Amino acid sequence: MDFRFSDEEEKLRAEVRDFCEKEPPETFPCEIEDEGYGFGGWSRAFTKRLGEKGWLAIAWPKEYGGLGRTIMERYVAAEELAYHRAPQYGHLFGDAVGAGIVTYGTEEQKKEFLPQMARGDILWATGLSEPGAGSDMLNTATRAVKDGDDYVLNGQKIWPTGAHLADWCLILARTDPDAPKARGLSTFLIDMRSPGVVVNPIIDMAGAESFAEIFLEDVRVPKRLLLGQENRGLPLVFGCLEGDRFWGRCLRHAGSKKDLEELVEYINQSSYDGRRLKDDQVLRDTLAEIAIELEVSRMLNYKAAWLLNQGASISWESSVVKVFADELGQRIAHVGLQVLGPEAQIRDNSRWARLRKRFTFLYNFNRGLSLAGGTSEIQRNTIALRGLGLPRS
Ligand SMILES: Cc1cc2nc3c(=O)[nH]c(=O)nc-3n(C[C@H](O)[C@H](O)[C@H](O)COP(=O)(O)OP(=O)(O)OC[C@H]3O[C@@H](n4cnc5c(N)ncnc54)[C@H](O)[C@@H]3O)c2cc1C
Repeated sequence: MDFRFSDEEEKLRAEVRDFCEKEPPETFPCEIEDEGYGFGGWSRAFTKRLGEKGWLAIAWPKEYGGLGRTIMERYVAAEELAYHRAPQYGHLFGDAVGAGIVTYGTEEQKKEFLPQMARGDILWATGLSEPGAGSDMLNTATRAVKDGDDYVLNGQKIWPTGAHLADWCLILARTDPDAPKARGLSTFLIDMRSPGVVVNPIIDMAGAESFAEIFLEDVRVPKRLLLGQENRGLPLVFGCLEGDRFWGRCLRHAGSKKDLEELVEYINQSSYDGRRLKDDQVLRDTLAEIAIELEVSRMLNYKAAWLLNQGASISWESSVVKVFADELGQRIAHVGLQVLGPEAQIRDNSRWARLRKRFTFLYNFNRGLSLAGGTSEIQRNTIALRGLGLPRS
C-alpha cells in the first residue's frame, strides 16, 4: 500500500494551488451566496474559468472535450480547489449528469453535450425528488407520454439544487405506468428554457436560495433527449447518485480542514474572561477529536477514489464517505459555535467576523446535507445491505 500521490498528481495539485493563489476563488462573482461554507457556492464565472483550464472534465475522454487523465488526478484537483473554498457547486451536478452521458448517452448526445459541459458553457441540475417521492424514487409520478417525435412531460420536482440557475436538468419521469414500479421510469435531458418549464427558487434554512421547485406543464421533449433506454432509467439514476455521493462529499474534508485551521488560529489569539482559550483543555480535546475525524474522512475519500481509479464500483463505499462527511460537517459546525461562544452571533467588522458568519451559516446549512443525495438513514440501509450483506429490511 502506497499512500503517496504520483508525480503527475502532485504536479496537478501544485498547478491548482498556484491558480487559486493567483486568481482567488472568492474574487469571482457567486450566484448562490455560500458565505464560504467549505466547498464553495455556485459561480458561473468560476465554473467557466475552470472549463478554460480543462479542469471540469479532467477524467473524461479527450474526444469529448476531456483531458483523458485519471480519476485520482481529478480527485486531487477537487481536493485542492475545496481547500481554497472554490465554488464547485455549479458543476457538481454536471459531473453527475456527465457521467450518465458518458456511460449511457448516444454518440449524438456525447458530441452535443460533453464538450459544452467541459468548457463550462452549460450548467445542470438534477430533478429526481418529488413531493411524494424522495427516498423512495419508485413513487415518481411525473409522467412522460410519447407523442410523435416528442415525449410530453407533466409533473412536479422539488429540491433540485440550483435548478433556477441551471441551463439543463436531468429529469426522471414515468414512461410506463402499467409496468412494475422500477421498470417504467426513464431519464430525460431537459432544456430549462423549454415552454412549460416553471422554476421557483426556494430559500434554505441557512438563508441561501440554493434549491428550487420545478413544474412541468406539457413540456415537449424531443426523443433524442431520452438518456439511456426507455423504461430503464432507474439504474442510470442510481449510477449517477453513486458518483454524486462521493464527488459531492469528498470535497468536504479539505474545506473543513481549513475551517479547523482557522479555529485553531482563533483559539491561539483569543481570550475569554481573562483566560487564554488555547489553555482550555476542553477546547483542545474537542479540536483534537475533530482533527482525528478529519483524518478518517480523508482516508475514506482516498480509498473510494482509489477504487474508482481502478474502475471498481463504490456502491456502498460512496455511502460510507457521504454519511461520515455529512455528520462530521454537522459536528464541526457545532464545535465551531462552541469555540466562538456567544461571539458567534455577533456581526461586526473585526478580523473574526467572517469566521463567525461562516460557522453560523454552516450550522444551518450542514443540516440539509445529510438529506441531500439520499438521507443518512438510506445510506446506512445501503451499507447494511451491500457492505455487510444483511437482508433487505
Ligand atoms: C440541501 C438539499 C439539496 C437537495 N438537492 C437535490 C437535488 O439536487 N435534486 C433532487 O432531486 N433532490 C434534491 N434534494 C432532495 C433530497 O434528495 C431528498 O430530500 C431526500 O432524498 C429525502 O427525501 P424526502 O425529502 O422526500 O424525505 P422522505 O423520503 O420522505 O424521508 C423522510 C424521513 O424518513 C426517513 N426514511 C425514509 N425511508 C426510509 C427507509 N426506508 N429507512 C429508514 N428511514 C427512512 C428518511 O431518512 C427521512 O428522515 C435535496 C435536499 C436537500 C435538503
